[in-house]
Amino acid sequence: MTNILVTGGAGYIGSHACKALKAAGYMPVTYDNLITGWVDAVKFGPFEQGDLNDRERLDQVFAAYQPAAVMHFAGLSQVGESTRIPETYWQTNVCGSLTLMQAAVTAGCLDFVFSSTCATYGDQDNVVLDETCVQMPINPYASSKRAIEDMLRDFEAAHGLRHVIFRYFNVAGADPEAEVGEQHQPETHLVPLMLDALDGTRGALTIFGTDYDTPDGTCIRDYVHVCDLVDAHILGLKWLEDSKPSRVFNLGTGDGFSVREVIAQAGHVTNRDVPVIEGPRREGDCTKLVSGSTRAEAELGWTPTRSSMAQMIGDAWRWHQSGHFEK
Ligand code: UDP
Repeated sequence: MTNILVTGGAGYIGSHACKALKAAGYMPVTYDNLITGWVDAVKFGPFEQGDLNDRERLDQVFAAYQPAAVMHFAGLSQVGESTRIPETYWQTNVCGSLTLMQAAVTAGCLDFVFSSTCATYGDQDNVVLDETCVQMPINPYASSKRAIEDMLRDFEAAHGLRHVIFRYFNVAGADPEAEVGEQHQPETHLVPLMLDALDGTRGALTIFGTDYDTPDGTCIRDYVHVCDLVDAHILGLKWLEDSKPSRVFNLGTGDGFSVREVIAQAGHVTNRDVPVIEGPRREGDCTKLVSGSTRAEAELGWTPTRSSMAQMIGDAWRWHQSGHFEK
C-alpha cells in the first residue's frame, strides 16, 4: 500500500483526508504535534507524534514510512489570533513548512499537496477571485500561507519538489458517518460556535460586524463541505502521480453566504433559533471571499456534491450531537 504523510492528520481537515485516503487505497501516516489536534481523530492509519520544526523527528518518519507524497495540513489557522501573535504564525506555519519541505527533499519525497487559503487574496472589491488573481493578504495568517506558496515554487525550481496548492474557501460540515468532525480548542469558527449556541453548550453567538458593505451588513464567505474538499486532495494526489505540472486550485463552490444567512439556515435545518448578539468587527476579517474559479472542476474533475448549506450544517449538527474527541 502507498504511504502518504499527512501532517495535521489529527486535525479537522487532516482527519477527514485520512479517511478519504484510506478509502482510496492509500495508507495515511499522521504526523501531528497534538497541540491543536486530537489523538482520537487518528483512526485510519498509523500515528507519529512530532512537530513540524523537529527536523530529526521528520527525518525518522520519512525513513520509516518512505511516503510517496506529503499532504501538508498542519498549521495555525485563526485569523484573529494571527493578528495578535504573528511571530507564532511565522514560526509554526512558515518555518515549520520550510523544515518539512527540506526533510521531504532530502528523503526524495517530491510530491507535495498543500493547504493554502483564499484569505491570501485579501479584500478585493468587485474582483473575480480566481487563481490568477493577485494575492494581497491582510492578516498574518494569510501572509504566512502566501509565503509557503512562494517557498514551494522556489523548491520546485531548485529541488524538483512538485506541488498542488489548494486555496480553501470556508470549510464546514463533517463526516456523514460522524467518525470524525470539527472540534477546536478554543473554538473560533462560525459553524461549530453556532451549533454550541443552538444547543446551549455556550451562550449566544456574536456576529462579528454588521456594518460591512454587503446586503445585510455581515461578512460573506463561500462554504465547502469538508468531504468535498478532501475529495479534491485525492484528485490532487493523482494529478501529481500522473506527472502533471504543479498547479494552484481554488476550492470553493462560488456561492456566497453572509453570516446572517448561515445562521438562518441553521435555524431552518435544526428547527431551533440561534441566539445571537451583534458585536464589533473581528480584526483581520475580509468583507467577502467567494471563489470565482471552476479550474478544479475543469482540470481535476472535482465535483462538490455535498456542499449545500443545509447538508453542511446537517452533517455538522449530527457530529455535534453524537460525539467529541477527548484530549
Ligand atoms: N464569525 C462570526 N462570529 C463568530 C465566528 C465567526 O460572526 O463567532 C464570522 C467571521 O467574522 C467570518 C465568518 O463568520 O465572517 C467565518 O469565520 P470563521 O472564523 O468560521 O472562518 P474564517 O472566514 O475566519 O476562515
